[in-house]
Amino acid sequence: MKRVAIIGGGISGLSAAFALEKQRRNGAPVEYTVFEASARLGGVLVTEHVDGCQVEAGPDSFITEKPWAADLCREIGLGDQLIGSNDPDRKTYILVKGRLVVIPDGLMFMVPTRIMPTVLSPLFSIRTKLRMAGEWFHPPRKADNDESVAAMVERHYGPEMVDRLADPLLSGVYGGEASQLSVRAVLPRFAEMEAKHGSLGRAMLAARRRMPSAAKGAARPLFTSLKAGMQQMVDALVALLPKSAIQTGSPVQGIQPQEGGWTVSAGYTSDHFDALILAIPTTAATVLLRGPGPALADELLGIQYTSSITVNLGYNGAVRDRLPPGFGFLVPRSEGRRMLAATFVHNKFPHRAPDDRALLRCFIGGAGNDKVLKLGDDEILRSVREELRQIINLTADPLFTRIYRWQGAMAQYGVGHLERLQRIDALLPRLPGLALAGNGYRGIGVPDCVRSGSDAAGKVLSALGLSQEKSPVSATALHS
Ligand SMILES: Cc1cc2nc3c(=O)[nH]c(=O)nc-3n(C[C@H](O)[C@H](O)[C@H](O)COP(=O)(O)OP(=O)(O)OC[C@H]3O[C@@H](n4cnc5c(N)ncnc54)[C@H](O)[C@@H]3O)c2cc1C
Repeated sequence: MKRVAIIGGGISGLSAAFALEKQRRNGAPVEYTVFEASARLGGVLVTEHVDGCQVEAGPDSFITEKPWAADLCREIGLGDQLIGSNDPDRKTYILVKGRLVVIPDGLMFMVPTRIMPTVLSPLFSIRTKLRMAGEWFHPPRKADNDESVAAMVERHYGPEMVDRLADPLLSGVYGGEASQLSVRAVLPRFAEMEAKHGSLGRAMLAARRRMPSAAKGAARPLFTSLKAGMQQMVDALVALLPKSAIQTGSPVQGIQPQEGGWTVSAGYTSDHFDALILAIPTTAATVLLRGPGPALADELLGIQYTSSITVNLGYNGAVRDRLPPGFGFLVPRSEGRRMLAATFVHNKFPHRAPDDRALLRCFIGGAGNDKVLKLGDDEILRSVREELRQIINLTADPLFTRIYRWQGAMAQYGVGHLERLQRIDALLPRLPGLALAGNGYRGIGVPDCVRSGSDAAGKVLSALGLSQEKSPVSATALHS
Protein backbone atom coordinates (compact mmCIF):
# COMPACT_ATOMS: atom_id res chain seq x y z
CA MET A 1 0.00 0.00 0.00
CA LYS A 2 1.42 3.41 -1.00
CA ARG A 3 0.80 6.31 1.37
CA VAL A 4 0.42 9.95 0.28
CA ALA A 5 0.39 13.01 2.55
CA ILE A 6 -1.60 16.02 1.35
CA ILE A 7 -0.72 19.19 3.23
CA GLY A 8 -3.49 21.80 3.08
CA GLY A 9 -7.23 21.14 3.12
CA GLY A 10 -8.36 24.02 0.90
CA ILE A 11 -10.01 23.35 -2.44
CA SER A 12 -6.62 22.42 -3.98
CA GLY A 13 -5.84 19.82 -1.32
CA LEU A 14 -9.39 18.45 -1.32
CA SER A 15 -9.32 18.11 -5.11
CA ALA A 16 -6.06 16.17 -4.82
CA ALA A 17 -7.63 13.96 -2.13
CA PHE A 18 -10.68 13.32 -4.27
CA ALA A 19 -8.51 12.32 -7.25
CA LEU A 20 -6.67 9.80 -5.03
CA GLU A 21 -9.95 8.63 -3.51
CA LYS A 22 -11.29 7.72 -6.95
CA GLN A 23 -8.19 5.61 -7.62
CA ARG A 24 -8.48 3.97 -4.21
CA ARG A 25 -12.08 3.05 -4.90
CA ASN A 26 -11.01 1.69 -8.27
CA GLY A 27 -8.70 -0.69 -6.41
CA ALA A 28 -5.37 1.15 -6.60
CA PRO A 29 -3.17 0.29 -3.59
CA VAL A 30 -3.06 3.85 -2.27
CA GLU A 31 -4.16 5.64 0.89
CA TYR A 32 -3.73 9.26 1.89
CA THR A 33 -3.95 11.71 4.77
CA VAL A 34 -5.01 15.35 4.46
CA PHE A 35 -3.27 17.55 7.05
CA GLU A 36 -5.14 20.80 7.63
CA ALA A 37 -3.85 23.42 10.06
CA SER A 38 -7.21 24.93 10.96
CA ALA A 39 -10.23 23.31 12.54
CA ARG A 40 -12.21 23.29 9.30
CA LEU A 41 -11.65 22.21 5.70
CA GLY A 42 -12.14 24.35 2.61
CA GLY A 43 -9.53 27.07 3.13
CA VAL A 44 -10.91 30.37 1.85
CA LEU A 45 -14.18 28.76 0.69
CA VAL A 46 -16.58 29.63 3.50
CA THR A 47 -20.33 30.29 3.30
CA GLU A 48 -22.37 31.52 6.25
CA HIS A 49 -26.16 31.62 6.31
CA VAL A 50 -27.37 34.80 7.99
CA ASP A 51 -30.94 36.13 8.10
CA GLY A 52 -31.93 34.10 5.02
CA CYS A 53 -28.88 35.35 3.07
CA GLN A 54 -25.90 33.34 1.88
CA VAL A 55 -22.84 35.22 2.92
CA GLU A 56 -19.63 34.28 1.10
CA ALA A 57 -16.48 34.98 3.07
CA GLY A 58 -14.11 34.15 0.22
CA PRO A 59 -14.93 33.34 -3.42
CA ASP A 60 -18.58 33.73 -4.39
CA SER A 61 -18.37 31.90 -7.72
CA PHE A 62 -16.00 30.76 -10.44
CA ILE A 63 -15.56 31.71 -14.04
CA THR A 64 -17.60 29.44 -16.32
CA GLU A 65 -15.07 29.43 -19.15
CA LYS A 66 -12.69 27.28 -17.08
CA PRO A 67 -14.49 23.94 -16.74
CA TRP A 68 -12.63 22.14 -13.93
CA ALA A 69 -14.64 23.32 -10.92
CA ALA A 70 -18.04 22.76 -12.55
CA ASP A 71 -16.88 19.34 -13.82
CA LEU A 72 -15.83 18.41 -10.29
CA CYS A 73 -19.19 19.57 -8.94
CA ARG A 74 -20.99 17.34 -11.45
CA GLU A 75 -18.77 14.43 -10.54
CA ILE A 76 -19.52 14.76 -6.82
CA GLY A 77 -23.26 14.92 -7.38
CA LEU A 78 -23.81 18.69 -7.41
CA GLY A 79 -24.70 19.03 -11.10
CA ASP A 80 -28.24 20.15 -10.31
CA GLN A 81 -26.96 22.64 -7.74
CA LEU A 82 -24.92 24.69 -10.22
CA ILE A 83 -26.30 28.15 -10.92
CA GLY A 84 -25.24 30.86 -13.36
CA SER A 85 -24.89 34.59 -12.77
CA ASN A 86 -27.91 36.72 -13.74
CA ASP A 87 -26.16 38.00 -16.85
CA PRO A 88 -29.17 39.80 -18.35
CA ASP A 89 -28.86 42.11 -15.30
CA ARG A 90 -25.07 42.36 -15.61
CA LYS A 91 -23.96 45.92 -15.40
CA THR A 92 -20.79 46.99 -13.67
CA TYR A 93 -19.87 50.54 -12.76
CA ILE A 94 -16.54 52.27 -12.34
CA LEU A 95 -16.16 55.09 -9.87
CA VAL A 96 -14.88 58.11 -11.82
CA LYS A 97 -14.35 61.36 -9.90
CA GLY A 98 -16.83 60.26 -7.27
CA ARG A 99 -19.58 59.17 -9.67
CA LEU A 100 -20.54 55.72 -10.92
CA VAL A 101 -20.14 55.30 -14.68
CA VAL A 102 -21.33 52.09 -16.30
CA ILE A 103 -18.78 49.99 -18.24
CA PRO A 104 -20.01 50.27 -21.84
CA ASP A 105 -21.35 47.24 -23.70
CA GLY A 106 -18.90 45.44 -25.95
CA LEU A 107 -15.81 45.97 -23.79
CA MET A 108 -14.12 42.60 -23.41
CA PHE A 109 -11.91 43.05 -20.39
CA MET A 110 -10.57 46.37 -21.66
CA VAL A 111 -10.77 45.75 -25.38
CA PRO A 112 -13.57 47.61 -27.19
CA THR A 113 -15.33 45.33 -29.67
CA ARG A 114 -18.29 47.66 -30.37
CA ILE A 115 -17.64 51.21 -31.45
CA MET A 116 -20.73 53.24 -30.54
CA PRO A 117 -21.18 52.28 -26.85
CA THR A 118 -17.52 53.10 -26.24
CA VAL A 119 -17.57 56.34 -28.23
CA LEU A 120 -20.64 57.53 -26.31
CA SER A 121 -19.44 56.40 -22.88
CA PRO A 122 -18.35 59.06 -20.38
CA LEU A 123 -15.93 56.49 -18.90
CA PHE A 124 -13.10 57.60 -21.18
CA SER A 125 -11.73 60.98 -22.23
CA ILE A 126 -11.58 62.01 -25.90
CA ARG A 127 -7.84 61.34 -25.78
CA THR A 128 -8.38 57.67 -24.77
CA LYS A 129 -11.11 57.27 -27.37
CA LEU A 130 -8.68 58.50 -30.03
CA ARG A 131 -6.09 56.02 -28.73
CA MET A 132 -8.72 53.26 -29.10
CA ALA A 133 -9.28 54.23 -32.73
CA GLY A 134 -5.53 54.28 -33.36
CA GLU A 135 -5.12 50.91 -31.63
CA TRP A 136 -6.82 49.32 -34.63
CA PHE A 137 -3.57 49.91 -36.58
CA HIS A 138 -1.22 48.61 -33.90
CA PRO A 139 1.44 46.48 -35.67
CA PRO A 140 2.08 42.87 -34.55
CA ARG A 141 4.76 42.71 -31.87
CA LYS A 142 6.56 39.61 -30.66
CA ALA A 143 8.02 40.59 -27.31
CA ASP A 144 11.18 38.80 -26.20
CA ASN A 145 10.49 39.43 -22.56
CA ASP A 146 7.54 39.44 -20.24
CA GLU A 147 6.15 42.79 -19.17
CA SER A 148 3.51 44.10 -16.79
CA VAL A 149 -0.17 44.23 -17.73
CA ALA A 150 -0.03 48.00 -17.22
CA ALA A 151 2.85 48.37 -19.68
CA MET A 152 1.02 46.43 -22.36
CA VAL A 153 -2.34 48.13 -21.85
CA GLU A 154 -0.72 51.55 -21.77
CA ARG A 155 1.05 50.84 -25.06
CA HIS A 156 -2.29 50.05 -26.68
CA TYR A 157 -4.75 52.40 -25.02
CA GLY A 158 -2.89 54.86 -22.82
CA PRO A 159 -2.66 55.40 -19.04
CA GLU A 160 -6.33 56.21 -18.45
CA MET A 161 -7.30 52.68 -19.54
CA VAL A 162 -4.86 51.27 -16.97
CA ASP A 163 -6.25 53.44 -14.18
CA ARG A 164 -9.95 53.14 -14.95
CA LEU A 165 -10.24 49.54 -16.14
CA ALA A 166 -7.17 47.28 -16.15
CA ASP A 167 -6.12 48.04 -12.60
CA PRO A 168 -9.58 47.85 -10.96
CA LEU A 169 -10.46 44.67 -12.88
CA LEU A 170 -7.23 42.99 -11.82
CA SER A 171 -7.50 44.12 -8.26
CA GLY A 172 -10.94 42.40 -8.19
CA VAL A 173 -9.33 39.08 -9.21
CA TYR A 174 -5.81 39.19 -7.76
CA GLY A 175 -6.00 42.00 -5.27
CA GLY A 176 -3.01 43.10 -7.35
CA GLU A 177 -1.71 46.04 -9.31
CA ALA A 178 -1.58 46.07 -13.11
CA SER A 179 1.90 47.57 -12.87
CA GLN A 180 3.19 44.48 -11.04
CA LEU A 181 1.32 41.59 -12.68
CA SER A 182 2.81 39.61 -15.57
CA VAL A 183 0.93 39.91 -18.84
CA ARG A 184 2.10 36.45 -19.94
CA ALA A 185 0.87 34.78 -16.75
CA VAL A 186 -2.30 36.80 -16.15
CA LEU A 187 -3.47 37.63 -19.68
CA PRO A 188 -1.71 35.09 -21.91
CA ARG A 189 -4.31 35.53 -24.64
CA PHE A 190 -3.48 39.22 -24.91
CA ALA A 191 0.20 38.48 -25.40
CA GLU A 192 -0.66 35.96 -28.15
CA MET A 193 -3.14 38.32 -29.80
CA GLU A 194 -0.59 41.12 -29.91
CA ALA A 195 2.05 38.86 -31.42
CA LYS A 196 -0.29 37.66 -34.15
CA HIS A 197 -2.59 40.61 -34.90
CA GLY A 198 -0.99 43.65 -33.33
CA SER A 199 -4.32 45.29 -32.49
CA LEU A 200 -6.15 43.65 -29.59
CA GLY A 201 -9.45 45.02 -30.93
CA ARG A 202 -8.96 43.38 -34.33
CA ALA A 203 -7.80 40.15 -32.69
CA MET A 204 -10.88 40.03 -30.46
CA LEU A 205 -13.21 40.52 -33.42
CA ALA A 206 -11.35 37.87 -35.45
CA ALA A 207 -11.77 35.43 -32.53
CA ARG A 208 -15.49 36.21 -32.40
CA ARG A 209 -15.85 35.61 -36.12
CA ARG A 210 -14.15 32.21 -35.76
CA MET A 211 -16.59 31.15 -33.04
CA PRO A 212 -19.29 28.75 -34.28
CA SER A 213 -22.55 30.70 -34.58
CA ALA A 214 -24.24 28.36 -32.07
CA ALA A 215 -21.68 29.35 -29.45
CA LYS A 216 -22.22 33.07 -30.18
CA GLY A 217 -25.98 32.79 -29.68
CA ALA A 218 -26.07 30.51 -26.64
CA ALA A 219 -23.94 32.66 -24.35
CA ARG A 220 -23.12 30.83 -21.14
CA PRO A 221 -23.29 32.77 -17.89
CA LEU A 222 -20.01 34.46 -17.11
CA PHE A 223 -19.89 33.10 -13.55
CA THR A 224 -21.02 29.81 -12.03
CA SER A 225 -21.79 29.15 -8.39
CA LEU A 226 -23.78 26.77 -6.20
CA LYS A 227 -27.30 27.19 -4.89
CA ALA A 228 -26.30 26.92 -1.25
CA GLY A 229 -22.99 28.75 -1.71
CA MET A 230 -19.40 27.75 -2.34
CA GLN A 231 -19.21 25.81 0.92
CA GLN A 232 -21.53 23.26 -0.70
CA MET A 233 -18.61 22.13 -2.85
CA VAL A 234 -16.39 21.64 0.18
CA ASP A 235 -19.07 19.75 2.13
CA ALA A 236 -19.83 17.43 -0.81
CA LEU A 237 -16.15 16.67 -1.34
CA VAL A 238 -15.47 16.02 2.33
CA ALA A 239 -18.49 13.69 2.52
CA LEU A 240 -16.84 11.48 -0.10
CA LEU A 241 -13.52 11.13 1.72
CA PRO A 242 -13.01 8.61 4.54
CA LYS A 243 -13.00 10.33 7.96
CA SER A 244 -9.81 8.50 8.81
CA ALA A 245 -8.07 10.29 5.92
CA ILE A 246 -8.62 13.76 7.39
CA GLN A 247 -6.62 15.43 10.14
CA THR A 248 -7.86 18.92 10.96
CA GLY A 249 -6.15 21.08 13.56
CA SER A 250 -2.85 19.60 12.31
CA PRO A 251 -0.42 22.25 11.11
CA VAL A 252 2.53 20.51 9.48
CA GLN A 253 5.77 21.89 10.91
CA GLY A 254 8.34 19.80 9.10
CA ILE A 255 8.88 17.58 6.06
CA GLN A 256 11.98 15.51 5.51
CA PRO A 257 12.93 13.20 2.64
CA GLN A 258 13.68 9.81 4.20
CA GLU A 259 13.95 6.18 3.10
CA GLY A 260 12.73 6.89 -0.43
CA GLY A 261 9.72 8.77 0.90
CA TRP A 262 8.87 11.68 3.19
CA THR A 263 8.54 12.06 6.93
CA VAL A 264 5.83 14.54 7.86
CA SER A 265 5.77 16.11 11.32
CA ALA A 266 2.60 17.65 12.70
CA GLY A 267 2.17 18.43 16.39
CA TYR A 268 4.04 15.86 18.44
CA THR A 269 3.84 13.08 15.86
CA SER A 270 5.76 12.15 12.74
CA ASP A 271 4.62 9.73 10.09
CA HIS A 272 6.22 8.26 7.00
CA PHE A 273 4.68 8.60 3.53
CA ASP A 274 5.73 7.48 0.07
CA ALA A 275 4.79 10.80 -1.54
CA LEU A 276 3.77 14.30 -0.60
CA ILE A 277 1.50 16.98 -2.08
CA LEU A 278 1.99 20.52 -0.81
CA ALA A 279 -1.39 22.20 -1.41
CA ILE A 280 -0.69 25.35 0.55
CA PRO A 281 0.21 28.94 -0.35
CA THR A 282 3.82 29.18 -1.58
CA THR A 283 4.63 31.36 1.45
CA ALA A 284 3.81 28.39 3.72
CA ALA A 285 5.51 25.90 1.37
CA THR A 286 8.71 27.96 1.51
CA VAL A 287 8.94 27.45 5.26
CA LEU A 288 8.57 23.67 4.95
CA LEU A 289 11.00 23.39 2.03
CA ARG A 290 13.75 25.54 3.54
CA GLY A 291 15.58 22.41 4.85
CA PRO A 292 14.92 19.74 2.21
CA GLY A 293 14.90 21.99 -0.89
CA PRO A 294 16.52 25.41 -0.30
CA ALA A 295 16.75 26.26 -4.03
CA LEU A 296 13.07 25.47 -4.50
CA ALA A 297 12.21 27.41 -1.34
CA ASP A 298 14.07 30.44 -2.76
CA GLU A 299 12.04 30.32 -5.96
CA LEU A 300 8.76 30.02 -4.07
CA LEU A 301 9.76 32.96 -1.91
CA GLY A 302 9.66 35.13 -5.04
CA ILE A 303 5.89 34.59 -5.42
CA GLN A 304 4.18 37.40 -3.53
CA TYR A 305 0.73 37.30 -1.90
CA THR A 306 -1.66 40.11 -1.00
CA SER A 307 -4.24 40.31 1.76
CA SER A 308 -7.85 41.40 1.61
CA ILE A 309 -10.95 41.84 3.70
CA THR A 310 -14.50 41.13 2.61
CA VAL A 311 -17.21 43.09 4.37
CA ASN A 312 -20.76 41.78 3.93
CA LEU A 313 -23.72 43.97 4.82
CA GLY A 314 -27.37 42.84 4.83
CA TYR A 315 -30.19 45.39 4.42
CA ASN A 316 -33.95 45.38 4.14
CA GLY A 317 -36.02 45.43 0.95
CA ALA A 318 -36.34 49.24 0.88
CA VAL A 319 -32.58 49.53 0.39
CA ARG A 320 -32.71 46.90 -2.35
CA ASP A 321 -35.25 48.98 -4.26
CA ARG A 322 -33.06 52.08 -4.08
CA LEU A 323 -29.71 50.54 -5.09
CA PRO A 324 -28.50 50.98 -8.68
CA PRO A 325 -29.26 48.02 -10.96
CA GLY A 326 -26.42 45.65 -11.84
CA PHE A 327 -23.69 43.58 -10.22
CA GLY A 328 -21.81 46.35 -8.43
CA PHE A 329 -18.89 48.72 -8.89
CA LEU A 330 -15.09 48.89 -9.03
CA VAL A 331 -12.99 51.65 -7.55
CA PRO A 332 -9.81 52.80 -9.33
CA ARG A 333 -6.84 53.52 -7.05
CA SER A 334 -6.78 57.12 -8.26
CA GLU A 335 -10.11 57.70 -6.46
CA GLY A 336 -8.22 57.45 -3.18
CA ARG A 337 -10.76 55.22 -1.39
CA ARG A 338 -10.21 52.30 0.92
CA MET A 339 -12.76 50.17 -0.94
CA LEU A 340 -11.61 48.29 -4.07
CA ALA A 341 -15.03 47.02 -5.17
CA ALA A 342 -18.57 46.27 -4.04
CA THR A 343 -20.90 43.55 -5.30
CA PHE A 344 -24.70 43.77 -5.19
CA VAL A 345 -24.94 40.07 -4.36
CA HIS A 346 -28.74 39.87 -4.51
CA ASN A 347 -28.56 40.93 -8.20
CA LYS A 348 -25.56 38.85 -9.23
CA PHE A 349 -26.94 35.38 -8.38
CA PRO A 350 -30.32 33.87 -7.65
CA HIS A 351 -30.77 32.21 -4.22
CA ARG A 352 -28.35 34.55 -2.43
CA ALA A 353 -30.84 36.76 -0.61
CA PRO A 354 -34.62 36.67 -0.07
CA ASP A 355 -36.65 39.21 -2.11
CA ASP A 356 -36.97 41.48 0.93
CA ARG A 357 -33.24 41.66 1.58
CA ALA A 358 -30.28 43.38 -0.07
CA LEU A 359 -26.82 41.88 0.34
CA LEU A 360 -23.68 43.90 -0.36
CA ARG A 361 -20.14 42.56 -0.36
CA CYS A 362 -17.32 45.06 -0.25
CA PHE A 363 -13.59 44.42 -0.71
CA ILE A 364 -10.80 46.33 0.88
CA GLY A 365 -7.05 45.67 1.00
CA GLY A 366 -5.09 44.50 -2.01
CA ALA A 367 -1.51 45.12 -3.09
CA GLY A 368 0.51 47.32 -0.75
CA ASN A 369 -2.38 47.57 1.70
CA ASP A 370 -1.69 44.82 4.22
CA LYS A 371 -1.99 47.29 7.07
CA VAL A 372 -5.80 47.34 6.74
CA LEU A 373 -5.79 43.86 8.26
CA LYS A 374 -4.73 45.41 11.53
CA LEU A 375 -7.78 47.70 11.70
CA GLY A 376 -10.48 46.77 14.17
CA ASP A 377 -13.93 45.71 12.97
CA ASP A 378 -15.47 49.03 14.04
CA GLU A 379 -12.99 51.04 12.02
CA ILE A 380 -13.42 48.79 8.95
CA LEU A 381 -17.18 49.03 9.13
CA ARG A 382 -17.13 52.75 9.73
CA SER A 383 -14.99 53.44 6.67
CA VAL A 384 -16.90 51.02 4.41
CA ARG A 385 -20.24 52.55 5.44
CA GLU A 386 -18.90 56.07 4.95
CA GLU A 387 -17.68 55.21 1.45
CA LEU A 388 -21.02 53.55 0.61
CA ARG A 389 -22.73 56.74 1.74
CA GLN A 390 -20.51 58.86 -0.48
CA ILE A 391 -20.68 56.58 -3.52
CA ILE A 392 -24.27 55.27 -3.58
CA ASN A 393 -25.89 57.45 -0.92
CA LEU A 394 -26.51 54.41 1.30
CA THR A 395 -27.19 55.69 4.81
CA ALA A 396 -29.50 52.97 6.20
CA ASP A 397 -28.31 50.86 9.13
CA PRO A 398 -27.46 47.32 8.05
CA LEU A 399 -29.49 44.46 9.55
CA PHE A 400 -26.29 42.45 9.91
CA THR A 401 -22.62 42.67 9.01
CA ARG A 402 -19.88 40.09 8.60
CA ILE A 403 -16.18 40.86 8.21
CA TYR A 404 -13.60 38.30 7.04
CA ARG A 405 -9.87 38.93 6.97
CA TRP A 406 -7.72 37.01 4.49
CA GLN A 407 -4.06 37.40 5.21
CA GLY A 408 -1.73 36.59 2.31
CA ALA A 409 -4.40 34.62 0.46
CA MET A 410 -4.14 36.00 -3.09
CA ALA A 411 -1.07 35.05 -5.13
CA GLN A 412 0.44 37.74 -7.36
CA TYR A 413 1.93 36.54 -10.62
CA GLY A 414 4.69 39.09 -11.06
CA VAL A 415 6.57 39.83 -14.27
CA GLY A 416 8.64 36.72 -15.11
CA HIS A 417 6.24 34.33 -13.32
CA LEU A 418 6.23 31.79 -16.19
CA GLU A 419 10.02 31.65 -16.23
CA ARG A 420 9.93 31.10 -12.46
CA LEU A 421 7.53 28.18 -12.98
CA GLN A 422 9.99 26.65 -15.45
CA ARG A 423 12.76 26.91 -12.86
CA ILE A 424 10.46 25.37 -10.24
CA ASP A 425 9.63 22.48 -12.59
CA ALA A 426 13.34 21.95 -13.20
CA LEU A 427 14.05 21.77 -9.45
CA LEU A 428 11.24 19.37 -8.54
CA PRO A 429 12.95 16.17 -9.77
CA ARG A 430 15.57 16.76 -7.03
CA LEU A 431 12.80 16.03 -4.51
CA PRO A 432 11.26 12.75 -5.71
CA GLY A 433 7.69 12.08 -4.66
CA LEU A 434 6.90 15.77 -4.09
CA ALA A 435 4.14 17.59 -6.02
CA LEU A 436 2.91 21.16 -5.68
CA ALA A 437 -0.67 22.42 -5.92
CA GLY A 438 -2.49 25.63 -5.05
CA ASN A 439 -3.04 29.15 -6.23
CA GLY A 440 0.62 30.17 -6.39
CA TYR A 441 1.38 28.56 -9.73
CA ARG A 442 -0.92 28.27 -12.75
CA GLY A 443 -4.09 30.14 -11.87
CA ILE A 444 -5.53 31.69 -8.76
CA GLY A 445 -9.24 30.98 -9.36
CA VAL A 446 -11.15 28.02 -7.93
CA PRO A 447 -11.20 26.10 -11.27
CA ASP A 448 -7.40 26.40 -11.61
CA CYS A 449 -6.94 25.26 -8.01
CA VAL A 450 -9.17 22.23 -8.63
CA ARG A 451 -7.09 21.37 -11.67
CA SER A 452 -3.83 21.91 -9.79
CA GLY A 453 -4.95 19.48 -7.07
CA SER A 454 -5.97 16.72 -9.42
CA ASP A 455 -2.84 17.21 -11.57
CA ALA A 456 -0.67 16.93 -8.46
CA ALA A 457 -2.45 13.68 -7.53
CA GLY A 458 -1.80 12.38 -11.05
CA LYS A 459 1.92 13.22 -10.79
CA VAL A 460 2.24 11.51 -7.43
CA LEU A 461 0.45 8.40 -8.66
CA SER A 462 2.74 8.05 -11.63
CA ALA A 463 5.81 8.71 -9.46
CA LEU A 464 4.61 5.82 -7.29
CA GLY A 465 4.22 3.62 -10.35
CA LEU A 466 0.45 3.47 -9.95
CA SER A 467 -1.20 3.86 -13.32
CA GLN A 468 -4.17 6.15 -13.27
CA GLU A 469 -7.46 4.44 -13.98
CA LYS A 470 -9.16 6.79 -16.43
CA SER A 471 -12.64 5.32 -16.20
CA PRO A 472 -14.63 7.39 -13.71
CA VAL A 473 -15.95 5.76 -10.58
CA SER A 474 -19.70 5.31 -11.00
CA ALA A 475 -21.91 7.75 -9.09
CA THR A 476 -23.35 4.94 -6.95
CA ALA A 477 -19.89 3.66 -6.10
CA LEU A 478 -18.86 7.19 -5.12
CA HIS A 479 -21.82 7.79 -2.90
CA SER A 480 -21.99 4.34 -1.37
C1 LIG B 1 -11.56 37.03 -0.59
C2 LIG B 1 -11.31 36.12 -1.75
C3 LIG B 1 -12.19 36.12 -2.83
C4 LIG B 1 -11.97 35.27 -3.91
N1 LIG B 1 -12.88 35.25 -4.93
C5 LIG B 1 -12.76 34.32 -5.90
C6 LIG B 1 -13.82 34.12 -6.84
O1 LIG B 1 -14.87 34.77 -6.76
N2 LIG B 1 -13.67 33.16 -7.78
C7 LIG B 1 -12.54 32.38 -7.85
O2 LIG B 1 -12.46 31.49 -8.72
N3 LIG B 1 -11.53 32.51 -6.95
C8 LIG B 1 -11.62 33.45 -5.98
N4 LIG B 1 -10.64 33.58 -5.04
C9 LIG B 1 -9.41 32.76 -5.18
C10 LIG B 1 -9.62 31.32 -4.74
O3 LIG B 1 -10.70 31.22 -3.86
C11 LIG B 1 -8.37 30.78 -4.07
O4 LIG B 1 -7.23 31.02 -4.87
C12 LIG B 1 -8.47 29.27 -3.82
O5 LIG B 1 -9.66 28.93 -3.17
C13 LIG B 1 -7.25 28.80 -3.03
O6 LIG B 1 -7.41 27.46 -2.65
P1 LIG B 1 -6.20 26.64 -2.04
O7 LIG B 1 -6.71 25.35 -1.57
O8 LIG B 1 -5.07 26.63 -3.00
O9 LIG B 1 -5.69 27.54 -0.82
P2 LIG B 1 -6.40 27.89 0.56
O10 LIG B 1 -7.85 28.03 0.41
O11 LIG B 1 -5.61 29.04 1.10
O12 LIG B 1 -6.14 26.60 1.44
C14 LIG B 1 -4.87 26.27 1.93
C15 LIG B 1 -5.07 25.53 3.24
O13 LIG B 1 -3.81 25.11 3.69
C16 LIG B 1 -3.79 25.19 5.11
N5 LIG B 1 -2.39 25.24 5.53
C17 LIG B 1 -1.48 26.22 5.33
N6 LIG B 1 -0.29 25.85 5.85
C18 LIG B 1 -0.45 24.61 6.40
C19 LIG B 1 0.41 23.71 7.08
N7 LIG B 1 1.71 24.01 7.32
N8 LIG B 1 -0.09 22.54 7.50
C20 LIG B 1 -1.39 22.20 7.27
N9 LIG B 1 -2.24 23.03 6.63
C21 LIG B 1 -1.78 24.22 6.19
C22 LIG B 1 -4.58 26.47 5.40
O14 LIG B 1 -5.08 26.47 6.72
C23 LIG B 1 -5.66 26.41 4.34
O15 LIG B 1 -6.84 25.80 4.82
C24 LIG B 1 -10.83 34.40 -3.93
C25 LIG B 1 -9.93 34.40 -2.84
C26 LIG B 1 -10.17 35.23 -1.77
C27 LIG B 1 -9.23 35.21 -0.59
